[in-house]
Amino acid sequence: MLDGTGEGGTSADGLCYFNLSDYYRDSVSSSFQPASSAAPGGTISLYNFFSPGGLLSQTHPAYEFRRGQLQMAQAVGQAIEERRHLIVEAGTGTGKTLAYLMPAIRSGKRVIISTGTKNLQEQLFYKDVPFLEKALFPDGNRALSVCYMKGRNNYLCRRKLYELTEQPVLNGLDEIEQYRAIAAWEQTTRTGDRAELADLPEASALWHKLDARADTCTGQKCSSWDKCFITEMRRRALESDIVIVNHHLFFADLGIKQQAEGAPDAGILPDAAVVIFDEAHELEDVAGSYFGISVSAARFEELCRDIENFLQRNHNYTASFSGAIKTLRERSAFFFSLLPEGDSRFAFENRHEFLEENGDEFLAVQQSLVRIASEIENMPSKPEEAFSFARRAQEFHVQLGFVLEHEDPNTVFWIERRRAGREKQHVSLQATPIDVGPVLREALWSKLDTAILTSATLAVGGALDYIRSRLGVDHARNVVLPSHFDYQNQALFYVPPDLPDPRTPQFASKAAERIRKLLEITRGRAFVLFTSYAQMRDIYQRLLGEIEFPMLLQGDAPKSALLEEFRATPHCVLFATSSFWQGVDVQGEQLSCVIIDRLPFAVPSDPVVAARVKAIDSNGGNAFFDYQVPAAVITLKQGFGRLIRSLHDRGLVALLDNRILKKQYGRIFVDSLPNYRRSTDLNVVEQWFGL
Ligand code: SF4
Repeated sequence: MLDGTGEGGTSADGLCYFNLSDYYRDSVSSSFQPASSAAPGGTISLYNFFSPGGLLSQTHPAYEFRRGQLQMAQAVGQAIEERRHLIVEAGTGTGKTLAYLMPAIRSGKRVIISTGTKNLQEQLFYKDVPFLEKALFPDGNRALSVCYMKGRNNYLCRRKLYELTEQPVLNGLDEIEQYRAIAAWEQTTRTGDRAELADLPEASALWHKLDARADTCTGQKCSSWDKCFITEMRRRALESDIVIVNHHLFFADLGIKQQAEGAPDAGILPDAAVVIFDEAHELEDVAGSYFGISVSAARFEELCRDIENFLQRNHNYTASFSGAIKTLRERSAFFFSLLPEGDSRFAFENRHEFLEENGDEFLAVQQSLVRIASEIENMPSKPEEAFSFARRAQEFHVQLGFVLEHEDPNTVFWIERRRAGREKQHVSLQATPIDVGPVLREALWSKLDTAILTSATLAVGGALDYIRSRLGVDHARNVVLPSHFDYQNQALFYVPPDLPDPRTPQFASKAAERIRKLLEITRGRAFVLFTSYAQMRDIYQRLLGEIEFPMLLQGDAPKSALLEEFRATPHCVLFATSSFWQGVDVQGEQLSCVIIDRLPFAVPSDPVVAARVKAIDSNGGNAFFDYQVPAAVITLKQGFGRLIRSLHDRGLVALLDNRILKKQYGRIFVDSLPNYRRSTDLNVVEQWFGL
């Protein structure tokens, strides 16, 4: 979204303390160019590194020759050499991080690696890169320079802290304590990353006032620019061979650079010849949100609060300003209260009628924004920070105008209402590109020498056409590598042929009964994954007291706590929805069964999904086969992918939706799944578990 916050999915939770050397290891070279322009590791061929008897076999304690890993490394090396794009599906167990890191390092070019999850970012930074460094430079006489970057909101803004120190405006004892801790830490920290503040609550309101978000940053005109943590991070990234980010930060940065039209200090990521997107199956969603617009009542309130605080600090809170802020606050709150009612996410189809009816209220908000911006501009001898507020007010003006008045056949306009506490509701107006392909083609693929897109789940029916067309990656080489796992002997895929259609009311009771039987056979040790919260709660309630194993329910505790408990509790069963379908790794017997309730088709009434379906159909395509089935295939592969995480894992994947057997499209799902052993017979499931 063009909200300019640069907020990413990398939250600060769960990280232990680490110092600067943990973030960034200086190479022996301190030149502006990436230190490895001399191509460390360039002397060893990929074959000699990955093959039996090669360097990897001599240095990795659990080495096995993985043909797919070598093939992937060679494909990545070739793509970098030929300056072309590559899409590669590499199943779990391929060892794909080493397969792209090694040719990336050999190339001597600066490489940005963007991941979907914090776990993978950390694996790359703390495990894979240090391992390669040790393997390539056993004498310790060289080092790879690598920089790990999070979203800007993870870092402290020194200017804001100093201003708060001069004019403390703190709410309550908690904030006073947090302020003291942050102020003391600022004296010693070398990174400014809040992850070092283990005791700072995740939802600290004070931190939100002090973080280094882009929309409150005054850039080079800031008096703390030279010692700013963001400036320092940008400098480090410029000197790095490898820059590790997540998709949210990558696209937030790209959005900022586009808005700034190439201004030299825009964005924090350096240019790179090669960008590797791991977990690339998430790109469409993330890019869609960052190339879209979101305007909410909460953002208006935040702007009002920020301006008030600023004026109070600067003793400029005049009657005229107070009136302007009051008007903006009241008018925006009233305007958002007029938006149509609806459930969670719904299309804003009647924008014209809405504007006809409420045009005066819309114009009143726009005028209030203009008034605020001009009040700020007319301030005598104003500090630099004032300009960022005027800029924000102008941005809001443009964005609100866009979501209400703009006509664009490639944009879907919709409203989101989210519950926040018992009484409160967050309301936002959204504009999302229907097809991100053309946007990415123009803003990204055409500008990069090499983009590598990889994931364990990109192919549908063995081909990569779906992901290529959704993301607009033309002229890419496509590679689908077989998995390293022996799925025939490691996993049994069970579908009950006798259960009713999951869209019928009879399904829930029969499904609950079958889950009970399956859990008895597997002795618990299972994830039961659902496509909706309602179904999850319903079946959980039906099974409560009916099975003898400990049961966990998503929502009863944070995700990380549930996972920890699952790992620590013998025979545990976890009931969960979408957030557990991917990025969750439980190895060993503790997870021996993954049950999925139904084929994970996206909700067709979702405004973004509905707009995409309509656009494909009206362009002569078949949205069901071109979009809905492939998207569901990838989600199903993700869900089942939780089971087999290592060569030693063994177990059952069960799908309670037998449309996969009965409908014509079911074949596409079956052909896209790994080569599991298959059965529709419960006796076979029992035999599989030795009963
Ligand atoms: S440059 Fe921006 S982020 Fe850094 S201290 Fe100044 S205002 Fe804060």
